[in-house]
Amino acid sequence: MTISPLMPVYPRCDVRPVRGEGCYLFDEKGERYLDFSSGIAVNALGHAHPELTKVIQDQAATLMHVSNLYGSPQGEKLAQKLVDISFADTVFFTNSGSEAIECALKTMRAYHQSAGDKERFEIITFSNAFHGRTLAAISASSQEKMHHGFHPLLNGFKYVEFDDLEAVKDAIGPQTAGFLVEPIQGEGGIRPASHEFIQGLRDLADKYDILLALDEVQCGVARTGAFYAHENYGITPDILASAKGLGGGFPMGACLTTEKAARGMTFGSHGSTYGGNPLAMAVGSTMLDIVTESGFLQHVRDMGDKLTARIEQFMGNYPDLFELVRGQGLMLGIKMKSDSRAFVAHLRDNHRLLTVAAGDNVIRLLPPLIVTEEHINDFMERLSAGAASYIIIAEE
Ligand SMILES: *Cc1c(COP(=O)(O)O)cnc(C)c1O
Repeated sequence: MTISPLMPVYPRCDVRPVRGEGCYLFDEKGERYLDFSSGIAVNALGHAHPELTKVIQDQAATLMHVSNLYGSPQGEKLAQKLVDISFADTVFFTNSGSEAIECALKTMRAYHQSAGDKERFEIITFSNAFHGRTLAAISASSQEKMHHGFHPLLNGFKYVEFDDLEAVKDAIGPQTAGFLVEPIQGEGGIRPASHEFIQGLRDLADKYDILLALDEVQCGVARTGAFYAHENYGITPDILASAKGLGGGFPMGACLTTEKAARGMTFGSHGSTYGGNPLAMAVGSTMLDIVTESGFLQHVRDMGDKLTARIEQFMGNYPDLFELVRGQGLMLGIKMKSDSRAFVAHLRDNHRLLTVAAGDNVIRLLPPLIVTEEHINDFMERLSAGAASYIIIAEE
């Protein structure tokens, strides 16, 4: 047998973390890494956060799972908190981002079908989008590399150029059910949509009675310095998929919707065995309490501004390597002049700095939201040393 016991779908690197503490990860040999990837925007409070650890211990010892056949005081509590701080009137809890997307897609179709409009099933999505890895989620993405080997895809998606409102207007037809869009594309290369684009989608959705669903799985839950990224755009969606930072490392997600958008989601229409389990709900509740504490979002904005300014200043020393830095809050991308993957590997292997490559030649920076100036100094030292040694390697 040559296949590995762990299904070989990830080209895993040689770093093998076994322990984490705050903004640092430690591997099997005890090597320490500065973690500016946070499990891809998941560990919002860093690793082994004492409050999060404690709530998991306490809730696990009290009640970990019950069926959704029974009442859920824990789910009601977290749903109420989310409703109180967002546009939403109701919440469906999931175990992952893809499942939150799945719920968003079903909610959009059911909105029209429950009103007797069977023709409106098509969802407009955008170039370079990433919505997860289920069949529906890959069907919703135009990226062919994720489709390979998995045809036929799910029917009913139309891909339109990201950030191109005119193209959206041309794409809307009698079959259009709604839009699904990341306000800031993550995997696609930390590309923030323009205000005009997001506001334009909102206006079009209102005009045609179709739904605006946002994928805030990566950019949501304080990552951009707003609780949800759309708050920076001055609009509210009809539906929103949330996950990643919502559990701070515990797997959970949520699909938030308005009452109107949820009109098709009736008894028996949707479900999940694990979604909304008491353990996840306790973790989510604690996460929300922490990120909504006064000063938390301001801290994210301040650190994001500092980090951006430091990178901008530094980039000038290497005009051949770096092009620009973009993003919001602590969801930042450094666009390189060429492919970013080799440089991300170089920073990781030679400078013990963890970042993530993304589309469009981008190095993604997704530090824990609890980073301090000390971590930013540490980051800049490693990045500077990394750029200097990279130039030497490139010249050899
Ligand atoms: C990670 C991600 C997903 C998928 O989440 P999973 O938990 O991996 O299923 C969906 N959308 C976006 C924008 C993401 O970044």
